[in-house]
Amino acid sequence: MLNYELIKEEKVYCAYCKFIEKNSLNNKYNNKYVNERLNKLEAIFDLKIEELGEEINNEVCSCKSPSWYMLYASYLEGETPVICGDCGKSVPLYRLPKIMGQEEYFQELNWQRDYQNVDNLYVSCLSDRFTYRQMSNPNSQLSKKGRKICHEFEKSTNKPFYYYLANLKKNLNRCPICGEEWQNSNNSKTVDFKCEKCRLVTDKE
Ligand SMILES: [Zn+2]
Ligand SMILES: [Zn+2]
Repeated sequence: MLNYELIKEEKVYCAYCKFIEKNSLNNKYNNKYVNERLNKLEAIFDLKIEELGEEINNEVCSCKSPSWYMLYASYLEGETPVICGDCGKSVPLYRLPKIMGQEEYFQELNWQRDYQNVDNLYVSCLSDRFTYRQMSNPNSQLSKKGRKICHEFEKSTNKPFYYYLANLKKNLNRCPICGEEWQNSNNSKTVDFKCEKCRLVTDKE
């Protein structure tokens, strides 16, 4: 869920929300904060959930078992920073294990927020050198944080987990970590190139 609008209609309060999947509200996905708030709300209100319809721009992965994943964000708001390597659609975080001893997905969401902030600055041309480096250099603070998340997810899922490196000036002709040529991803739904060894992916432009 990204956001909600709270509308008061006489004695009824309606919160209009968007969810990534039909079953996103299933209790099994609740964390302790959700349960705490839910208990408080249930003590005061008679809660009802009504489905209004399907959001047509929602693109969620429905693969049974993705063969690989990538960590990806952009200045455009995204529901989740994880993309399925097979279909190229979003993977809800609650489908993935919790990593780094967290009870939640704060590291992943913080990384996504940081990336969006940096990308926004880049798009507004306010700090080209800094933002370009953060997104295109695999050893920038932002990339290191992201690659650590990929590494931890790979350990927990036993599936290849790649980090998306932005090829903003179309000059990443080779993998910037090992210096070897990129391999073709052979999947037009996701990315153009990958380096299996370094777990990096990128696009031609
Ligand atoms: Zn998928
Ligand atoms: Zn490499």
